[in-house]
Amino acid sequence: MSLRRSIYKSPAQLRAMVEPGLITAAALDAARSLIAPGVTTGDLDAAASALITSRGAKSNFQMVRGYRHTICASVNEEVVHGIPGDRVLGAGDIVSVDAGAEFKGWNGDSAFTFVLPDQSRPEVVAARQHLSDVTEGSLWAGIAALASAKHIGEVGTAIQSYIEANSPDSGTYGILREYVGHGIGRKMHESPSVFNYRVADPGPEVRPGLVLAIEPMVVIGDQATFVEDDGWTVSTVDGTAGSHWEHSVAVHEDGIWVLTAPDGGAAGLAPFGVTPREIA
Ligand code: MG
Ligand code: MG
Repeated sequence: MSLRRSIYKSPAQLRAMVEPGLITAAALDAARSLIAPGVTTGDLDAAASALITSRGAKSNFQMVRGYRHTICASVNEEVVHGIPGDRVLGAGDIVSVDAGAEFKGWNGDSAFTFVLPDQSRPEVVAARQHLSDVTEGSLWAGIAALASAKHIGEVGTAIQSYIEANSPDSGTYGILREYVGHGIGRKMHESPSVFNYRVADPGPEVRPGLVLAIEPMVVIGDQATFVEDDGWTVSTVDGTAGSHWEHSVAVHEDGIWVLTAPDGGAAGLAPFGVTPREIA
């Protein structure tokens, strides 16, 4: 048995996670700024890769066994783990982009969803934008819950409650059950698991030093998914669209700080009455 690393980091370790978080945010910005009809998911990958390299960091996705890309790009019925390549983005597509940077041995991990306009299909675009907005809102609800939570399980309860309260009249959105958030630090994926739904086990205690990647994966229809023949891409069985939003968040002595948001999460947390505090 090897010694188990504590899930709680020291103040110095939390400070070391600020820069990889900011590089991750910049990489996603570089990809987001390119999104337009006619652009390929491979173009988004190249932009994120160039940004990470320019900051002296490394893509941590490329350190995942068998994966050779900087981002995951999941389009329409794909929810997560889509492989970037020749796929051309078109009007009305919903694309989720996930990326992470490792800098001086510490990791960031974050994702966003973008819906391309399509004037010929306004109802499709509106439905997909609502899905993305509710998924993003549920992420911020989960982060806001973390600010005052006693146990990690309260995060998932807040995420599920938000999604249930904001689903359209046509039906409650599905929350993926097989894929969850995680601790993050020296490795991109660490203990503990961070569920996006209510679970009976309250989970580990929330206290200073905890750093979590919170990442709701939400679909318009049923949560059932399958892995495509490429061995990576996770798509919905019923073919409905998916959305994925993610941030890496630190709990410290003075409060919480969203490492992968340049404002520490101030804008996203404001509707929940939570003010992030910088890591001293
Ligand atoms: Mg991610
Ligand atoms: Mg993650």
